[in-house]
Amino acid sequence: MQRLLIVEDEPALRRALTINLRARSYEVVPVGDGAGALRAAAASPPDLVVVDLGLPDMDGIDVIAGLRGWSTVPIIVLSARDSQAQKVRALDAGADDYVTKPFGMDELVARVRAALRRADIPQLATGPVVTTPDFTLDLAAKRATRDGVEVKLTPTEWHLVEALVRHPGILVAGSQLLAEVWGPGFAKETNYLRVYFAQIRRKLEADPSRPRHFVTEPGLGYRFEP
Ligand code: CA
Repeated sequence: MQRLLIVEDEPALRRALTINLRARSYEVVPVGDGAGALRAAAASPPDLVVVDLGLPDMDGIDVIAGLRGWSTVPIIVLSARDSQAQKVRALDAGADDYVTKPFGMDELVARVRAALRRADIPQLATGPVVTTPDFTLDLAAKRATRDGVEVKLTPTEWHLVEALVRHPGILVAGSQLLAEVWGPGFAKETNYLRVYFAQIRRKLEADPSRPRHFVTEPGLGYRFEP
């Protein structure tokens, strides 16, 4: 059974999330504050985290940053704050997706399912290894190394990287990447790509400000150059 850590300080919403997700056969660990969330995640690593941005003891962004220090678990953010800046900050801190309050339970469940599916890319025993002068990607083992040192990519980052490196030198449209990695409803969320490619470049490119491998074609999409 997949374990979901739900971090929400509003008791009624926490209860509704718990009941609805349990009804869909997930194991749910509900907590009401950020410190409790970090403790619960460390004690028993969850398969997915849903975190409210407005918590009584700390900002939800700090919970994301705390988790990202050691975990690539999928994270979905809940927020009443529908500002673009907040959304970008949460994605930048390492969240995988974003749901704005008030939301329908079916929408949240769909996002949870999609995030778990992205994280559950089958691991093959052998597979292609992509080598560039700056980094190496073992697609089967989900291992990235740069100068011989392992670099941790989140499941969403892997999914994007894989979508590009499968077609070296070929332009892949932004809308196609969004649909493939986030789902058909996300074709216009170009912000997601901007934020994620910035993270991927920071992790893999020798000079993230002048990317040689993950290249943006302005207004069109992205291209991987080996
Ligand atoms: Ca709250």
